[in-house]
Amino acid sequence: MTYQKFIKSMQDKAYENGKEESAVILILEAVTKLETNFLYMKMNEEIEEDIVNKFNDIFNKYLFDNKPVQYLIGYSTFYGYDFMVNENVLIPRFETEELVENVLYRYDKHFKGKKVDVCDLACGSGCIGIALSLEEPNMNVIASDISNEALDVAKYNNEKLNANVKFLQGDMLEPLKSFKFDIFVSNPPYIPNDELVDPLVKDNEPNIALFGGSDGMKFYDIILKGVKPMLKDKAIIAFEHGYDKKAEMISLANKYFPNSKVEVLKDLEGKDRMTFIYVGDFKW
Ligand code: GLN
Repeated sequence: MTYQKFIKSMQDKAYENGKEESAVILILEAVTKLETNFLYMKMNEEIEEDIVNKFNDIFNKYLFDNKPVQYLIGYSTFYGYDFMVNENVLIPRFETEELVENVLYRYDKHFKGKKVDVCDLACGSGCIGIALSLEEPNMNVIASDISNEALDVAKYNNEKLNANVKFLQGDMLEPLKSFKFDIFVSNPPYIPNDELVDPLVKDNEPNIALFGGSDGMKFYDIILKGVKPMLKDKAIIAFEHGYDKKAEMISLANKYFPNSKVEVLKDLEGKDRMTFIYVGDFKW
């Protein structure tokens, strides 16, 4: 059987079992150790038996064991980099790539060429802070998390990807008190506690990284209430948040930073997903 036929029949099988067809390519890339374009160059070649066996091992777990494909293959691609992931960290989401992109764009607009101190609070796998430090060497990034197990993953990723992020353990702002940042980024846990969540997510990903209090706003409140002393005179705060929290984010920003410009951005799906707060003197 050719790669092409094999892929098609596995995608059909995924579909029939109510699973994502996209998992097929991800697993095949992992077992062949080929990037997508090289995989596509093999489409008319016969698929090797050992590749089929390795594929089936993982694919069957994916189909029948309620496991996310990224935990099964052990990594997730984020902003073009492969991040190691396991049950101790949230699997990076597409929306979060947009947060990184928007932070980089605003760095260029307001701080271009300047060395800046950047914080990634609740860093999980480290994907935000590490991608920022790799994409913009002028960013000196400190990332923190409450979970030592998550920090082990983040530190591994930092080393493997040759990034230069420093890591601190602690609850929310606690470990960051003696620092001052130009850019403060966070994608904290933000799903309301009682929201129904897909079992694939809820039963596998760390719940400590998912749930953000009864309304999903708990951690934004904690951060905005206390972050002022950790900001330089001119600083940007950048959050990812729930798609239905635009009004709440604006009112929280106005409460703690009454004189600052607030900008809510949509993600590629058209959902209100990011809020940027500009503290201090910005030129527009
Ligand atoms: N966007 C994630 C989800 O919906 C949640 C991420 C978070 O809570 N920070 O699964």
